Amino acid sequence: MIWFILAIILGIIAIVLHKSANDNSSFVSEQTNQTTPLLSYGERYKRDFPTKTAEIEKLLNINIESLSEKDIKEKVSTLERFCKRQKCKFSEIKNIYISNVSQQPIELVPQMIETAKRGKIEEANKYNISQENTFSALMVLWLQEYYNQNASSQSKETTNKDELEIAKIVFPDLSDTQTLKERAISLREMTALLHCSPLNLHEFCNTHLKQGYDGTFKNFYKLIELYKHMAYQSYEIAPKVGVEPSNTSYGILCYWLDDIMKEERQKFFDTKEAECPICRSHDVKLGLFKDNFECNNCKQEFGGL
Ligand SMILES: [Zn+2]
Repeated sequence: MIWFILAIILGIIAIVLHKSANDNSSFVSEQTNQTTPLLSYGERYKRDFPTKTAEIEKLLNINIESLSEKDIKEKVSTLERFCKRQKCKFSEIKNIYISNVSQQPIELVPQMIETAKRGKIEEANKYNISQENTFSALMVLWLQEYYNQNASSQSKETTNKDELEIAKIVFPDLSDTQTLKERAISLREMTALLHCSPLNLHEFCNTHLKQGYDGTFKNFYKLIELYKHMAYQSYEIAPKVGVEPSNTSYGILCYWLDDIMKEERQKFFDTKEAECPICRSHDVKLGLFKDNFECNNCKQEFGGL
């Protein structure tokens, strides 16, 4: 994971400390306390810059102590770049950004989200930071939040408490509220479209996903094709409905189909039906995440996306 890359970008801390005039007095303690044992960088940062830490934690909805040194430095430098340009404080960043966005028609927001997503890559390369620490990444989050709040007040896009509870039952391994909300909206649409109770949707869809597939290894490719088609649809539809592709109806179907495919691969492995398309060997193994096969003979990978 990007979050755990430990490479340190030299010089950023100097810029960070130099730029923040109100924290200048802490510069000395930051230096002299670097040898204090048992304190992580985040803990030291919190101790040395309490005001700034509180602002960052509130703004980004994070706990700074849980972040790596690299992530903290990158996030701070990103925020400082924005503040310098806008001549504002950390605590004002989000309001300034959102007030600019709110001058645009709400229909344009999904497009802005897509643009910001592409911007992450560019910004990460330009400043040599991880994509998740870019301002574009924040823009994606804030735009999404803004869109959900505002597009929803005009239409049916709000989730009530029951729908959220159902989403939690249907997706027991998810805990992120925003994701669950988006999935709840899609579940509602699927429920209406398929005339099926939300709690039976998973089973109902599994039956349909397997239609046209006879369970043989020869036809396993049909599931792969179906997955690709639905994944493509999820990306097509996501900007229109203002949720992440993985949370659209198609995204949810992909998620369920992926489970089916993993089970099938395990079955073909157990029954030795899996056959390498290159050398026709049956001496194959399952990939680490059961998302493909690897041929022990010719080393080719197959049966994956
Ligand atoms: Zn082979």
